[in-house]
Amino acid sequence: MAPASAASKSSNQWSVTQKIYYVALTPSSEPNFWTSQSEETLTAEGDMLVFAKTAVSNATAFWKRASNDGLKFGSPKFFVGKPGTSVRRCNNRADIQSAMKIAGLKTIPVGVHLVVANISDTCGYAGIGAQGGNTVILKSLGTSTLTHELGHNFGYLHSASMFCEKSDYSKFNSNNCSIDEYGDFRDLMGNDEWCPNATLSATQRATVFGVPLAKDIKVGQTYTVDESRSKSSNLVYQMKYKGTWYFFEYSNPGKDRCMMVSGISTSPEIQVRMIGPDWLLDKSGSAGPVIISRRESDLPAPVIPTEVNGVLMLPPYGGWTLRGFKAGEKFQLPGTNLSLMVLTTESATATFTISQW
Ligand SMILES: [Zn+2]
Repeated sequence: MAPASAASKSSNQWSVTQKIYYVALTPSSEPNFWTSQSEETLTAEGDMLVFAKTAVSNATAFWKRASNDGLKFGSPKFFVGKPGTSVRRCNNRADIQSAMKIAGLKTIPVGVHLVVANISDTCGYAGIGAQGGNTVILKSLGTSTLTHELGHNFGYLHSASMFCEKSDYSKFNSNNCSIDEYGDFRDLMGNDEWCPNATLSATQRATVFGVPLAKDIKVGQTYTVDESRSKSSNLVYQMKYKGTWYFFEYSNPGKDRCMMVSGISTSPEIQVRMIGPDWLLDKSGSAGPVIISRRESDLPAPVIPTEVNGVLMLPPYGGWTLRGFKAGEKFQLPGTNLSLMVLTTESATATFTISQW
């Protein structure tokens, strides 16, 4: 079951084959922007058009994988507008109208995502997609932006993080805790970059696509949770407490990410994400599930060296940022009288239990 707050409001039905219509608008000052070729180019197409097609192919592969092949994609169509169609302005509506004309569309059929590339866009965003929408406006032409914006069309909100002052989640309230809307940085709906192995948290996938299926937790039982890219049926567990959802999944942050970021603890852990309570939702803008984040230097436990590429390393000055919970940790779940106890964290699996605090 997916929490209502994260459920897709998509106008695209999933049973329908998804199709990308990519309209490349051309500035009058660069009439050959899409068509010019470098000497090394082996194809008959322009370098930028090849680049755009690669981005579409990567983004499509990403969403196929993220939906466990639930989403079906037809062959994309590409249209290049005449010089002068890329206008220096911030007017999404006009760009969409112009793109529809170029693609020969009076309306956008169900399942079609109209991707409009306007390199002269002045809105200040790399891309814009809307939750449940059927258009994407791109200024940045790379795979990361396209993948992220298509995610909004499929119903995704941002992968956020939160932090309570001094990492003290017993003071779980609006004054003490803040949200970073893109702060779940292993995640393409947060601020991670695309790479061939890029992913979304199992929690994001479970709450929007329903694959993997989140399993309900009973207090006092022990659960095994597997690495979130695996085909296991134990990828994410959920619990509802007084209207707030809590999600538990395995992560190995040293391996899961595309970008290398210093100061992140890299050993295996169980991550906790939340949807709710109301004050958190009010604070969170376009945030979906929010991951609990802490600073190791705030914790009473002794500083534990972390293994990075086989080398034991002490935390950087100021301490590791922790996005999860390691074996042996007991943590009171914010806003509850329950605790998470992490029993084991192995290289691709972990065990935990929820008990009374
Ligand atoms: Zn976004």
